[in-house]
Amino acid sequence: MALCSRLPCEVAWPPVAGYVEPAKCSLKGLQHPHKRLPPVSVAKLRKFLLRVYGFFTAAGARLHIGIDDLHYAALKEELRRTFSDRFVSAEGNGLVGTVSPNSVEELRDLVDVAARHAVPLLARGAGTSPHVPLAVAGLQVSLRGLQRLLALDPAAGVAAIEPGMTWGALIRELQPQGWMPRVYPSSRAVSTVGGFVAQGGVGVGSFEFGSIRQSVARVRLLTPQGELLEVAGDDLGSVVGGEGRTGLIVEVDLLLQAWAPMEPLIAAFNSVEDVERCLADLWRQPLPVWSIGLMDQAAVSLQVSQGAPVEALPKGRCAALFSFRCQDRKSVLPQLRGSILGAGGRVSAIRGTHDQWIDRFMGLQALATTPVPLQFSLGLGKLRPMLRALRPELRRRLGFEAVVANTALPMAVRFFLLEPPRDLAENVDVAHELLSIARSLGGQSLPSQVLSAGSDYRTPRREASTE
Ligand SMILES: Cc1cc2nc3c(=O)[nH]c(=O)nc-3n(C[C@H](O)[C@H](O)[C@H](O)COP(=O)(O)OP(=O)(O)OC[C@H]3O[C@@H](n4cnc5c(N)ncnc54)[C@H](O)[C@@H]3O)c2cc1C
Repeated sequence: MALCSRLPCEVAWPPVAGYVEPAKCSLKGLQHPHKRLPPVSVAKLRKFLLRVYGFFTAAGARLHIGIDDLHYAALKEELRRTFSDRFVSAEGNGLVGTVSPNSVEELRDLVDVAARHAVPLLARGAGTSPHVPLAVAGLQVSLRGLQRLLALDPAAGVAAIEPGMTWGALIRELQPQGWMPRVYPSSRAVSTVGGFVAQGGVGVGSFEFGSIRQSVARVRLLTPQGELLEVAGDDLGSVVGGEGRTGLIVEVDLLLQAWAPMEPLIAAFNSVEDVERCLADLWRQPLPVWSIGLMDQAAVSLQVSQGAPVEALPKGRCAALFSFRCQDRKSVLPQLRGSILGAGGRVSAIRGTHDQWIDRFMGLQALATTPVPLQFSLGLGKLRPMLRALRPELRRRLGFEAVVANTALPMAVRFFLLEPPRDLAENVDVAHELLSIARSLGGQSLPSQVLSAGSDYRTPRREASTE
């Protein structure tokens, strides 16, 4: 609980024990901004609630704090009856267990059970997003059973996809039909469409196409009340980036691009300042570059120690990966080279596919050295000031990967600790420090950007509900 009091709300996800997360646990259900109670109030409230628990359940309250094994015994029994071996029970930490429904109808049954037992549902895709590894109170719902490409509309360039499909599987299914996603995470091999959409992520392809929000045409949402909503237009702001707070994403209509082989180009730079000069120059030109990824010196060293070729990624240098369609080579290369050389960089001779290079540029989150996410979006040219504002002792302990996105704050920077923290509190302190520096420079934290924007977080309208 002490930890909770120190978490800035942007990194306090998923909800941890003792943490009142009203979006999933409120008396009314949904659509509350992220709020926290000081630990002492939480402790008192919990004690009080446990005493008057009968009254609250009778009143149909959705307030859940901590564990109540007696209550869960009945819930678990019902889950076993309804979902048989697709319910796996968990012991301790307030997590009831995991249910893996295979259809929207089963999801609705689950939502109904959860509502009757007043237990929050926690959506889970592949579980690759960084999170606080503490007790999670509630019932986990795995969306992995819904993993089909439902339809492809070639005239509109739109695919309807179930949330549990991995990006890797989607890419494989689309390619023979001449299509590919416009944007996807570098964790594509395992992470799910629903998870990335719920995170409002930026990643591969974001230089041309912005965040995933710009590539989502419509979402089908199952609310905690069991309603199926069609969410589109401005209302997508409540779902894309909402991290499951407004309901379960059960289908996504995704804008696609025509499939094209991509060419990687790697450049090495002496400093972050040089990289930023190159980016500022590229930003001014309408060049058909699809994706840009960056690494600082520490990330480069780590990649090389894991087998990346040192001749392409010289130690002690920052590196950038530029990806563009092979068919655009002639128009891209001269200007791109000009921007790199003009900023004091050099173009590396490389071998390997575009996909291999994506893994080498945006894969260090897999080390899991940073349980509490340290992800921020910054304006162009703000990365160097951010690094300079860090205490030197802290800077030495951090590395970063970044992507450049076609968004209001284009630099999406993912810091990570080079060594795992001694304890979580230490990681939280680092998160605090980075967040306050990022904010002082006009930036914001990445995973909860919709919530930290505050006013953007609204109830989806019910105008086009189905069923
Ligand atoms: C090596 C590596 C590379 C990465 N690269 C990127 C990157 O390029 N860009 C990026 O943004 N992130 C990246 N990440 C972080 C993470 O992989 C992505 O955010 C990914 O899209 C999360 O998908 P997931 O299926 O693992 O979702 P999870 O981690 O399971 O869930 C993510 C969030 O979405 C919610 N959620 C999941 N499914 C649903 C649903 N159907 N309905 C409602 N809510 C749901 C969950 O409750 C949770 O809040 C990377 C991580 C690793 C380890």
